[in-house]
Amino acid sequence: MSDRGPHLVLLGKQGAGKGTQASRLAEHYGVIHLATGDVFRAAINEGTELGFEVQRYMDRGELVPDEIVIGVVREVLTNSDAVKRGFVLDGFPRTVPQAKELERVLADFPLDVVIDLDVPTEIALHRIAGRRVCVQCQTTYHVDNPPKEDWICDVCGSDVVQRDDDTEEAVMRRLELWEIQTLPLIHFYRRRGLLAHVDGIGDSEDVFESLVATVEVRMTEDA
Ligand SMILES: [Zn+2]
Repeated sequence: MSDRGPHLVLLGKQGAGKGTQASRLAEHYGVIHLATGDVFRAAINEGTELGFEVQRYMDRGELVPDEIVIGVVREVLTNSDAVKRGFVLDGFPRTVPQAKELERVLADFPLDVVIDLDVPTEIALHRIAGRRVCVQCQTTYHVDNPPKEDWICDVCGSDVVQRDDDTEEAVMRRLELWEIQTLPLIHFYRRRGLLAHVDGIGDSEDVFESLVATVEVRMTEDA
């Protein structure tokens, strides 16, 4: 086992539980959790040149282009002690060009493992399309775990509804897009010998333990 934490990329479709597990892993290893969405928000708040660019695309409801995403992530990786301490990347890379650029940025400190946190589409669909949210306090529920009273928020008493973009059709579209986008990335990391699969079905605690076990194996091989 090396004396730093893992250099880890976590891939997973929406509904796989990636965000939750990424933040648990970061805490477990005492490393930096780099979620692209958070990084974007931070850059915007700090008013950096790149933050300004990101804001422009987001205001127009457009996808932030590769070179800007790469720029933001490069800035964070090089200006923090993420490389020395270790990191969990969550939401990046999303494309093969982004993955290649990440390789260049990390040059002498390559990734230890890329984990594909995998759940079948039907399960991801059920998790997201079953989600309901309070219009007032944003507390989330699920059709399998509803509020005590008929879709009235337990916390604040407001209505609990389904978000427009959580409908089955909208979720299905996002999942299909994700599949198309991510497949080349999965192949890329498999060719690099970095890819590992972890089953994201079942209890969150069990999934977490499988993730840690997978990281441990790779870190030991590396050392
Ligand atoms: Zn509420």
